[in-house]
Amino acid sequence: MENFKHYSKLLNIRKTRFVGHEVSEIDATILKIFNENNEEVNSLMGKGFIIFDQTPFYAMGGGQDSDKGFLIFNEIKFDLEEVRKDLIYGFYIHQINTNNCELKVGDQLHLKIDQKYRDCSSINHSAMHITWQTTLNEVGHYVEELGSKLNNEKYQIQFVVDETITEELILTVVDKINKQIIPQDIKVNIFQVTQQEAIEKNYLLEFTKLVGDEMVRMVEFPGIVIEPCSGTHAKRTKELGNIWFLIYDKNSKRILLELTANEQYAAKFFNEKLVDRFSEIKAFIKKGLSYGINYDFLKILTRCEHLIKIWNPLSIKEINLIYNDVTMLVNKFLKEREAEMTKNLASEVLPFEIINNKFKLFSLSGEMYSNKILLPKVTQEASVEKNLVIVITNKHQNGANAIIIRNKELNIDLKELSTNIIMPKTTFRGGGTSSMIQLTSQSPEDIETIKEILLSE
Ligand SMILES: [Zn+2]
Repeated sequence: MENFKHYSKLLNIRKTRFVGHEVSEIDATILKIFNENNEEVNSLMGKGFIIFDQTPFYAMGGGQDSDKGFLIFNEIKFDLEEVRKDLIYGFYIHQINTNNCELKVGDQLHLKIDQKYRDCSSINHSAMHITWQTTLNEVGHYVEELGSKLNNEKYQIQFVVDETITEELILTVVDKINKQIIPQDIKVNIFQVTQQEAIEKNYLLEFTKLVGDEMVRMVEFPGIVIEPCSGTHAKRTKELGNIWFLIYDKNSKRILLELTANEQYAAKFFNEKLVDRFSEIKAFIKKGLSYGINYDFLKILTRCEHLIKIWNPLSIKEINLIYNDVTMLVNKFLKEREAEMTKNLASEVLPFEIINNKFKLFSLSGEMYSNKILLPKVTQEASVEKNLVIVITNKHQNGANAIIIRNKELNIDLKELSTNIIMPKTTFRGGGTSSMIQLTSQSPEDIETIKEILLSE
């Protein structure tokens, strides 16, 4: 799209009439077509760019993403991929893919916005204005904004680093907006002023004067915020419903805030950050308990149950700290338990079966011996038994483990045995070398299958 800048002035057409603030669909005529390489053409089949005489699609700008929507020609429908505005000449350049349909200059198409996408974007956009101004009011002094970005899902505001903009302050801001501003159901006021008037009234700074447009479009939620803005907005504050604070990220250069007025998106976001994290914590606790950890986890679980209902960055932070504490605690316990089990198993004489004069099979059950614990034992056995392949298996409630090892002097390819015979007949997965294989399985019954395999080998 960048390439259009070079010859926009040569196009010799009037700027595109934007009707997207008034209507959501319209018939429009093709004035210019460009192919994928940005070359002007008279017809298009496939990917390319189109300029119409008018459009309902909001073009990417002012931090707001481009509208989504579709175009219809002779009952054939294509998606709008993106629309951009040439800021100097005012052309709206529509990126589309017509697939097998041919479009020509002069053709008339029906253009229609994706209303749900537009509504979600408009609501987030309005919430962004209100959040920005309420933050400044709460801070009590001017803080430079480094930029803002939004789409249908969420909005982002970046400020230069200022010590007063903390997570707690933003929580207060969000609370004020949700409890005091949105319920007032303030009606948006949109009007035009001349650039000169905008500068005089401090709506616009001298250096931000726009080229081309003489009039400035102002957006006002009376009593709350007034700003020059060409974007799309909610009609009343009640449309916002509620806003949620998603992310607070501070580095040496900027503070980035991410929020949303889209409840579906908020639910998805916090489910991932809180509920999924809680599941991981529970899984870790379960693992610790199954190995016999003696710890009262009740307080932690109760706290987590409480936290997953609080949708903000502080609850995310706290649940992550809990996750770190729990994993550290359980891992430390598991490591000690593992060392103890390895020591005990090494000194134990295990019952075994000799199969086909070729295999020495040790079957354990009940304890969750990992391969890591079994390995020292099986290595010890293999160093003594020069003529037998050592197979040590462990059947436990969640599956099974197996290690197969042979003495260096024995000439049998275990990798072949595991890849060609054991794995196809069982759910065992794993790998190793021709002299040592480590396997794990989801199914405890696989141990019986391994025994059958050894009998027929
Ligand atoms: Zn706006």
